[in-house]
Amino acid sequence: MANLLETDTVVVGLGAMGAQALWRLARSGVDAVGVEQFSPGHDRGSSHGESRIIRTAYLEGAEYVPFVRAAWRAWSELEEASGERLVLRTGALMAGAPDSAAVAGSLAAARHHGLPCELLSAGEVRARFPGHRLRTGEVGVFEEDAGVVLPEASILAAVRLAGAAGARVLTGTVATRIEPDPDRPRVVVGDTVIRARRVVVTAGAWLPSLVPEVAGLGGGITVERRVLGWFRTTGDPAAHVAGPVFARDGDDCTWYGFPSLDGGRTVKIGVHAEAPGPRREGAQWGEPVDPDTGPREPDPADARRLGELTSGLHGVEALPERMASCMYTMTSDEHFVIGHRRELPGLVLAGGFSGHGYKFASAVGEALADLAGDGRTDLPIGLFDPHRWD
Ligand SMILES: Cc1cc2nc3c(=O)[nH]c(=O)nc-3n(C[C@H](O)[C@H](O)[C@H](O)COP(=O)(O)OP(=O)(O)OC[C@H]3O[C@@H](n4cnc5c(N)ncnc54)[C@H](O)[C@@H]3O)c2cc1C
Repeated sequence: MANLLETDTVVVGLGAMGAQALWRLARSGVDAVGVEQFSPGHDRGSSHGESRIIRTAYLEGAEYVPFVRAAWRAWSELEEASGERLVLRTGALMAGAPDSAAVAGSLAAARHHGLPCELLSAGEVRARFPGHRLRTGEVGVFEEDAGVVLPEASILAAVRLAGAAGARVLTGTVATRIEPDPDRPRVVVGDTVIRARRVVVTAGAWLPSLVPEVAGLGGGITVERRVLGWFRTTGDPAAHVAGPVFARDGDDCTWYGFPSLDGGRTVKIGVHAEAPGPRREGAQWGEPVDPDTGPREPDPADARRLGELTSGLHGVEALPERMASCMYTMTSDEHFVIGHRRELPGLVLAGGFSGHGYKFASAVGEALADLAGDGRTDLPIGLFDPHRWD
């Protein structure tokens, strides 16, 4: 017979979102259990690689700005509770053609919400940020309210604080089945059944397989591979330490990167998306992945393709000294899925973060704890309604 564990709320998956939710639940006195198949801060999901960008003038849509503001506030709360520095303010440079999403989208969000942003010519960018080379016709937008969130460190901090506040943390434990129920939903882990009042599912790339009812939402939630590369700097290392995070729209992709976080030795860059339009020959970002086997290891073709982007930078080598693969969990509209689905009573879902979710994790955790509590939240998550495609 199965062992039975009773609790108020179970959180399945302690990555970016689940770790924050578990901490928020535990610190408000809720009896909570967190279940993680690996060890928190691991490198097999979507939250590894040392750094994530946080920006405020949100190029993906002005409607995100209130939620980014909530996230900044919630990150400060985590920093204060943990005594750790988890967000580094570097400012952000968004660059590309004047009508690119990076430029026009950021400016539109800034205008809509009265955010301070500066429009810079290619020459002004070069003078102010010598690590960047823009092409003729490209422009930049600089925003001060932006920076880096440390993903592994913030997951570890949230899980540690959750445990200290009384949450039970089960690591190396796979949830094999989730059974919805309006009163007592259940999570099966090995020969134990955890019965709770609510189950928060934050399984990242595993969400579509763990909760198959979610897999087809909006035409389908898919898992894709992305690659990160760390490039050795040349010249004055100090120049690479002081720079902004950046997002740039090039001819064939949107790419992004970080100032050096290792004292000027390397800078990290990655590709967010292929440019819209017909898929080019050799396009390799967006390859589908089975999360159980994981994305394939980076190879020389990845190194070359990432390396081509360094022509837009100054003072970095053309091939990376190391790379890492990671997974994006994509919805068809690239907006998140946060909330309840009627056919899944007792469950609170958060997934489909479409490659831009980390910065919001602090606020997502807070929203999930609210939703698991009395079923509602004041946080602005209407855009992410799991029923929006119905
Ligand atoms: C290369 C890359 C760069 C990115 N850059 C940025 C950026 O600059 N800014 C930004 O805001 N966002 C960025 N993102 C997106 C962001 O990192 C993700 O949106 C976010 O990490 C997703 O968090 P998650 O909690 O959904 O998934 P994860 O953090 O992967 O967490 C899911 C967890 O659930 C666990 N799990 C799954 N199934 C089970 C099960 N059955 N039982 C137990 N545990 C289970 C997994 O092991 C995992 O720990 C980037 C993503 C990638 C891959």
